[in-house]
Formats: sequence, structure tokens, C-alpha cells
Amino acid sequence: MDDLRWSPAETSFLERTREFAQDQIAPRASSWVRDRQSCIELLPAASRVGILGLRVPIEMGGLGLSLRCQMEALRLLAQADFGVAMALINTHNVADQVSRLATPEVRGRILPGLLAGLEAGCTAITEIQTGSDVAAIQTRAIPNATGWQIDGTKAWVINAQHATKFIVYAQTSPQKGTGGIAAFLIESDQAGFSRRDDCPDPGISSMGVGGLVLEGYVCPHECLIAGPDLAIRDILTAINVARIYVAAMCCGMVEDCLKRAADYGMSRSTFGSRLYDHQGWRWTLADAETELDALRLMIARASQRADHGQDVRSEAARAKVFATRMASRHIPALMHAVGAQAFSETLPFARHLLAAQVAGLVDGSTEMLLERIARDLRPLNP
Ligand SMILES: Cc1cc2nc3c(=O)[nH]c(=O)nc-3n(C[C@H](O)[C@H](O)[C@H](O)COP(=O)(O)OP(=O)(O)OC[C@H]3O[C@@H](n4cnc5c(N)ncnc54)[C@H](O)[C@@H]3O)c2cc1C
Repeated sequence: MDDLRWSPAETSFLERTREFAQDQIAPRASSWVRDRQSCIELLPAASRVGILGLRVPIEMGGLGLSLRCQMEALRLLAQADFGVAMALINTHNVADQVSRLATPEVRGRILPGLLAGLEAGCTAITEIQTGSDVAAIQTRAIPNATGWQIDGTKAWVINAQHATKFIVYAQTSPQKGTGGIAAFLIESDQAGFSRRDDCPDPGISSMGVGGLVLEGYVCPHECLIAGPDLAIRDILTAINVARIYVAAMCCGMVEDCLKRAADYGMSRSTFGSRLYDHQGWRWTLADAETELDALRLMIARASQRADHGQDVRSEAARAKVFATRMASRHIPALMHAVGAQAFSETLPFARHLLAAQVAGLVDGSTEMLLERIARDLRPLNP
């Protein structure tokens, strides 16, 4: 692998991110769950750190940092709260997509508010009746004189409770399957937009999951962000990146549990010795650290390849499958090592455990990723 040092700009950004996670996310994370609140209040502070524009080009107001740096930042954020990491990166992703694909006029109108944390963004693909099977989405976009009329309902969308800018995926030609899907910029203050308030809280309230309904919404031509020739290719590239950062977030959550378990083991005694000095107890921690080490290498390799513009479909899928399974195994084991205190509302174990389950579904479920890996393994026909 390449030289793994950070540039001065990356070092400074990661230091700000670490402080932000420790000082502004970790102390509030349990109250967002208790009060069923999203983390929307953090957006301006996240903007000052640079998170909302971390990969947006410098000339457009972002930081223009590498994917490897993005993974590291999300690992640090998820140590404090997976939901906040997801909420912030979803607004960032809309800014990134607008910076790459929107017309100069739309970009100039939309980007400053997203980068400044004055508005939140989200990406809406999933519908009540379809998640994994993207080709089956029912939201329709029909061209008319002024643009596209869009009708449909989206569900399970991060930030949808409060976002004002949505990238919505809709079908333009049902007979073409994924080849007919296009991406549209939808604005919540336009006629025909409404939010759904019947989306269940997934238990990680900070990510503000919700839904939306479009009824006779008219999207002007210039707000077609990616037509059917580009939309699926573009979102698949973005989803491969997302798979790597979900893996990095799992890494962050297991690291947090491991550190807390180690601290507990040093301060708690049973049968005349510190817990840490009981061999049978500390092997749980050693198991977690061994797999974390493997995961860090998988993430570093996948993100470096992506930074070099290489195809990372398989690497990203393998990293996410490994990470989510690893987190689903080690978080409960580390909870067990901390005994009853692990269930304290003020500690993050239960929140991280639920988040590991969510990580196994978002941006491609484990089964979909195993299919991806299996397709790439398949020997060529003789
Ligand atoms: C907290 C949370 C946040 C989310 N955020 C967003 C968001 O911001 N934007 C967005 O668009 N979507 C979002 N989603 C939706 C997410 O992408 C979907 O949940 C995911 O795509 C799976 O779809 P589904 O839930 O409809 O499950 P289904 O597609 O109904 O699948 C159910 C189960 O069956 C398995 N399965 C399905 N087909 C097969 C098969 N052929 N072989 C084997 N197993 C199969 C799946 O892996 C899954 O385990 C979010 C979901 C959650 C829980």
C-alpha cells in the first residue's frame, strides 16, 4: 500500500473532527435517543469543521480532501454516534453530487446553503414496497412542457425529517428497469412536496429518518441532476464509497466499545484481581482487536484504490460485509465483558449495537453484497 501519512490539511481537518466528535457529539448522543431528536442542531458546527464539504472541490467552497481522509473522519464520528456520522455524510453527499453534476446556476443557488449547514440534504431511493430491488421503484417522472412531473412516495430516508434538498430517484421508462431511473433535485418548499410522519424511529434518532410524498411535483429541467444514461452509474459509484465508509463507521463503534471495556477491566476487580488480569476475560478484547486490525487494512486498501480511480466494487462489498458481521459479533461480546453497566442509558453499547444492525442493511444489505462478491468470483464460461 501507499505511504499512509496525512497531509497538513488532512491532519488539521482530522484533529478538528476528533474534537467535534468528543466535545459536541459524544456528550449529547444518548439524549437524542431519549428525546427522539435528530442532530440537526449540529449542522452549522459540522460546517465549521469542514465535514459538509470534505470532498467538494476547493474552488466550489469545499475542502477537496481524499476518500481515505473521509473514511478516517467517519470512523472518528461514529466512535461518538453512528447516526450523526450518517446524517452529516448524507448532507455532504448531496453537496458533492450537486458540485459534480448540477448546472452552474443550480450549483450556485444550492451549494452555499448545504456547505454552510443552513440546510440538510438527503438521498431518496427506497420506497415502502421496495428496497433491495431498486429496479422495482414506483416513483414516476414524466416529462412535460416545463420539466418533469414526479409522483411517488419514499421511505426510510436519512435526514428526511428536516432536509430541504432531496436527490430523488424516479423511473422515467418502467420497461427499462434500472436503465430508466433518473435523479432529480427536489426542494421541500415547492408545491407537491410533503413529508411522511409515519416512518418508525429506527432507535438511532440522531439520523432523522423519515419519508416524503411527491404529488404532481414539477421539477424544472435544470433540476434533473442525472438522466437515465448516468444516474445509476453515478449512484453505484457513490454507494461503493458509502460501503467503505459504513465499514469505517463499524470500525469506530467497535473501537469505542473496546476502549470502554478495557477501561472497565482495569478499574473493576473480581476474586481478588483486576478483571483485565483474568485471562478468560481479556481474550474477548484480543479477539476484537485482531479483527479490527484486519478491517483497518481492508478499509485502507479499498479507499486508496478508490482515490486512484480504480474499481472498488468487490473491495467495498467485502469490507462492508466483514465490518458489519464483525461489529454484530464483537459489540455484544464487549457488552458482556462490561457486565450490567453496559446497559446504562448513558453508555453507547446498546446504541452501537443497533447501529451495527442498521449498517448491515443500508447501502446494500449483506445478502446483496455477497451476491456482488459471488458474481465477481464466478469463473468465466469456457
Ligand atoms: C436506518 C435506515 C436508514 C436508511 N437510509 C436510507 C436513505 O437515506 N435512503 C434510502 O434510499 N434508503 C435508506 N434506507 C433503506 C435501505 O437502503 C434498505 O433498508 C435496504 O436497501 C434494504 O431494503 P428493504 O429494507 O426494503 O429490505 P428488503 O429488500 O425487503 O429485504 C429484506 C431482507 O431480505 C434480504 N433479501 C432481499 N432480496 C434477497 C435475495 N434475492 N436473496 C437473499 N436475500 C435477499 C435483504 O438482504 C434483507 O435482509 C435506510 C434503511 C434504514 C434501516
